[in-house]
This record gives sequence, structure tokens and C-alpha cells, in this order.
Amino acid sequence: MSEKLNIGWIGLGNMGTPMVKNLVKAGFDLTVYNRSADKTEALAKEINIKVAHSPADLVAASDVIFTMLSDDNAVKQVYEGENNVFSVAAGRELTMVDMSTVSPETTKYLAGLCAEKGISYLDAPVAGSVKPAEEAQLVIMVGGDENVYEKVKPAFDALGKMSVYLGENGKANVAKLSVNLMLGIVAQGLAEAVIFARKNGLSAEQLLPLINASAVGGGMTKMKTENIINNDFKPAFALKLLEKDIRLATENGMDTPVGQSLYSTLQAAKANGHGDEDMISVLKFLSAE
Ligand code: NAP
Repeated sequence: MSEKLNIGWIGLGNMGTPMVKNLVKAGFDLTVYNRSADKTEALAKEINIKVAHSPADLVAASDVIFTMLSDDNAVKQVYEGENNVFSVAAGRELTMVDMSTVSPETTKYLAGLCAEKGISYLDAPVAGSVKPAEEAQLVIMVGGDENVYEKVKPAFDALGKMSVYLGENGKANVAKLSVNLMLGIVAQGLAEAVIFARKNGLSAEQLLPLINASAVGGGMTKMKTENIINNDFKPAFALKLLEKDIRLATENGMDTPVGQSLYSTLQAAKANGHGDEDMISVLKFLSAE
């Protein structure tokens, strides 16, 4: 791998787009593919990226290819669908890095497919939403070969405030699901505190500064304060994605009481049409119950 990595990138969603901008800002050469081509074309007018028309298109120009996609199926589709990376990867020294939140099983499966082709694979999911992504303040958890991690680290440094190597493939997914279990529990706790206060004549405007200044306040409560006060549920992290993460945690043995309650809430909120809103719309859903 050359000192300055040539990067291929797949996925221009809420997270992928600011992450690509930060890599370009840090001086990396980027070639980008997104399923909906209009997003890639629009970004290419804004910043200096090359546009790819399929995952396979990225291979010739890339030392490392990142994916930042919705879920397990989306990532598998990119690896196994038409014009996939493997169709042209023979003989290339290539590393694949999946930064999406997926299950440890999917990581092990994809790492296995890569190993058969002599391709390295890292799972590298992130903690932090759109604002930390924009400000290169993500926390990046990494599983796979530690030497490969060291080679890719300059790119992680351009995306986050820290990256941590955790061990074999799948470990980082477990870490990420643990973080999001806590995130969801905090979100539901915050929603329930606001509902209780409002029921007793105290507004969110009055309550939230107190929460934020107290020991229970933190990054999440501060981040969602304006959204709650302004009834703004535009997705930074869509509720359906958090529901997916808690489903993955459940499938991996999460059977504790608050987590189970959270999963039921998220399933019901999604079924009631809140899936595409921000995860803090658990407040909207529980308020309407
Ligand atoms: P998003 O805005 O919904 O973007 C999803 C991306 O996946 C888009 O580029 C979409 O392409 C692509 N995609 C979906 N299905 C696909 C398929 N079958 N084949 C190819 N591409 C497909 O999601 P996001 O918020 O950026 O999140 C991305 C990942 O990061 C998720 O795993 C999420 O759980 C995780 N995450 C999110 C946050 C957050 O705050 N948002 C924070 C930490 C981690 P199109 O443009 O064509 O739809």
C-alpha cells in the first residue's frame, strides 16, 4: 500500500457524504460509487472526487475500499451483486473496510469471502452521528488484522477523533451494537423524562437545560435538545436504523429488561410510521400512545 492511500468509497447517505468530504479535505484521492447515481454526480460538482458507476469500477484506482451503507443486506448486495468488487479484484492488493453497522456474522461472512480472494477486511463501525461525521469527530471501532488497521489508520484519522483496534473480525460490530444499545436506552429514557415533566406542567424548555447540566446529561441529551424543543424529527440517525441495531443485538443474545423494552418500543414506533424520522421520534411515538 502506498503512503497516501487511494480510496474507493461506496455509500453517500447521511454519514457517507460528510465522511467523503473529510477524506478529500485531508488530501486523499477518492473514487466514489453510490446506488443512486444522482448523489455521486451532485457531490462531484461540489468537491474533487472521481465518479464510479459500479463497485467493480473502484478497484483499479483503489488501495482500500470503504462501505458505509444502511444494513447487512445493502453491504452483502454490494459484495455479491452485479459488477461487484470481486469480479475484477484478482491479483490486486486490496483492503475492504466496512464502516456500516452490521452484525458480527455478516462481517465474518464477508471477511471469509475476501480471504478466499486474498483481500484484507476490516469491520470499522462508528459512534457519532451526522454532526460528528461532519466535524471528523467520529469514534471508530476496528476489527480484523492489526497490521491492516495500521495501514488504514491515516484514513481513520481523517474521519474521527479516535480509532481503536479491538481484535478479530466481528469484535468492532459487537462494540458498536453495545454502544447503540446504550444510545437507544438513553433516547427512550430522555423521551420518558420529557413526557413525565410535560404531564405535570413542566416544559421541555425548562427541563432539558437541567438535564444537560446534571450528571445524567451528556452528548446525546445535548444533541437532541434543540430537536425536542423545536419538534424537529428530521433524521440524523433514522429510527429504523436504530431498530435494526437493536434487532441485531437481540439476535446476538441481548435479553436484558430495558433493552427488550426498547426493542418493543422501536418496533412499534417503526410500525406506526416513525421509521424514517430521527430516532428521537420515540418521544413523538410515546407521547401519542
Ligand atoms: P442512510 O442515510 O440511510 O444511507 C444509506 C446508504 O446505503 C445510501 O448510500 C444508500 O444508497 C445505500 N444503500 C442502501 N441500500 C442499498 C443497497 N441495497 N445497495 C446499495 N446501496 C444501498 O444511512 P446513514 O445514516 O448514512 O447510515 C449508514 C450506516 O451507518 C448504517 O449502518 C447506520 O446504522 C450507521 N450509522 C449511522 C449513524 C447516523 O447517525 N446516521 C451513526 C452511526 C452509524 P441510495 O443513496 O441509493 O439510497
